[in-house]
Amino acid sequence: MDGRKRLTRAIFIYLFAIAAPALVLLYLGLQSVQRQHKAIRTLAESNRVLANEKVAAELERRGVELAYQCLLEQQPSPPFRLRPPIVRHYFVIENGAVVFPRLLTPLPHEPDGATQAFRDAETLEIREGKIREALTAYQAMYDASTSKPVKALALSRVARCQERLQDRHAAAMAWRTLENAYGDLYDPLHRPYALTARLELNHLDGLYEDLTQDRWDLSAEQFDYYLGRLNRKPPPGNRFDLARELGERFRPAAPLREGEIYSYTLPHDKLYYRGGRGDLVFGFAVDDHWLQQSLLPAVRRGLGLPQMEEPDSTRGLWVYGGVTAAVLAVLLLGILMLVRDVARETQMNRLRAEFVGAASHELKTPITLIRLYAETLLDGKDFPEEERRGFYGIIARESERLGQLVQKVLSFSRIERGETEYSLQEGDLGAVIGQTVEVYRRYLERAGFAVETSMAETLPGFRFDSGAVSQAVVNLLDNAVKYSGESRFVAVRLRRDGGAAVLEVEDRGVGIPAGQREKIFERFYRAPNGGAKGGYGIGLFLVRHIMEAHSGRVEVESEPGRGSCFRLVFPVTA
Ligand code: ADP
Repeated sequence: MDGRKRLTRAIFIYLFAIAAPALVLLYLGLQSVQRQHKAIRTLAESNRVLANEKVAAELERRGVELAYQCLLEQQPSPPFRLRPPIVRHYFVIENGAVVFPRLLTPLPHEPDGATQAFRDAETLEIREGKIREALTAYQAMYDASTSKPVKALALSRVARCQERLQDRHAAAMAWRTLENAYGDLYDPLHRPYALTARLELNHLDGLYEDLTQDRWDLSAEQFDYYLGRLNRKPPPGNRFDLARELGERFRPAAPLREGEIYSYTLPHDKLYYRGGRGDLVFGFAVDDHWLQQSLLPAVRRGLGLPQMEEPDSTRGLWVYGGVTAAVLAVLLLGILMLVRDVARETQMNRLRAEFVGAASHELKTPITLIRLYAETLLDGKDFPEEERRGFYGIIARESERLGQLVQKVLSFSRIERGETEYSLQEGDLGAVIGQTVEVYRRYLERAGFAVETSMAETLPGFRFDSGAVSQAVVNLLDNAVKYSGESRFVAVRLRRDGGAAVLEVEDRGVGIPAGQREKIFERFYRAPNGGAKGGYGIGLFLVRHIMEAHSGRVEVESEPGRGSCFRLVFPVTA
């Protein structure tokens, strides 16, 4: 509960002293950025309007220029020779009615000047089935006539008769002549001869383009029919849609001055047009795709304007957003670190309290034993000599343990207060370790342990604190005993390794799980392998502290259930 209160207070102070001012600054910054942003936008807006006006004027000028070329330099009827990319579809209006693109198919008409001869030939061909005679009659008509429409009509019938007489070669020749010489004329049913010829000859390449690009004056119905024969669909926004829109909405200026180009804007189309004989109007709808993709960029380039609207004005906002996010992230990180620190501190306090409890408990046991045996000796006078010595032994052993315990606690509290001072002096490390092990060996053997020692004869000179080193050794031996389980074996080896001295304390006890081997050196840490064994988690912490003070290190190798080996390494530089 106390921990939670501390945490709340710490977060509160943090929010008050750091987070709140930071957020206020962020807010003020945001406002200023927004003001700037607005000013920039207004400026950019007026620039854009100016630029757009310039662009529009230039586009108009270029449009008119192109319209002059293609509207004044060619006849107002298909096929249109000039098809610059600005033209999507041409249109022609006469007497107020759209005549190109025409929506309705004109009624069939008879060719002038050949009426009787043509009727006779047709009677032979169709009524009487005399194809050969008919062919001769058509041929004669073709040769005799000087009128192009009559010649074309006669030639188309010649081709048809040859087709029916299975004279494929002659028929193909006739169709080809028809296409080349009379291609832009129309038969009495208003079908272009070239189109009929190409379909007969099966010359379909480029036919779709010719159909969709105003090559012939077809009606909407014919257009659909021929596209159907090519298995194609009428493209969206085709010229007949334009024709309908023209009929509904287009009102040209009146009167139209000769040689002048006018422009007009429909909901979906921009038009350029001119006047002509009578009240003819000849014009085209602009290809908007080409205008946007080619002409507009060229015009902008010509005017030295950037191609795209620059997202410049929003950059400040992005940068500011980034900074805000970063500040918020740092504030959040601060809170997280705070929570972690307070949690650690709280845990440390709990461990410290536990430590005091455990240490007091540990002290009580030897004191009780010492008092018990001392009183027994004082009361009873006639104990046999051997038993008496046993009692003295227990008193001595427990005092020793008490001494060690007090020593541990004192060292630890000195470290905690930062008052530890090691006095490193040149000396015989082997001798000091040997003595400590020797004293402890007696205690171990009394407790039934087999102790194996091997001590190096000579070691180089080291600078060390003899009290601290023997405490480290005792702590390791103490642990070896405590965590031996059923085993009664301890080995102590001191050897020379190059310039370093290495002390190993090995047991065949419970061992340490892999995940715990680093943690056991932290203060108050106790691995779960120890069971209910007395202890308070400062022994190895002291060992590591001592070794670090000697510029050395402590290592552990262990296998759960097989034992552990702790190693103190004193480097030559110490
Ligand atoms: P304490 O022994 O008082 O608990 P230490 O700091 O000496 O504290 O040891 C920390 C923990 O390391 C012990 O609780 C125990 O789990 C483990 N440990 C230390 N030495 C050994 C050993 N020789 N064998 C197995 N575990 C050990």
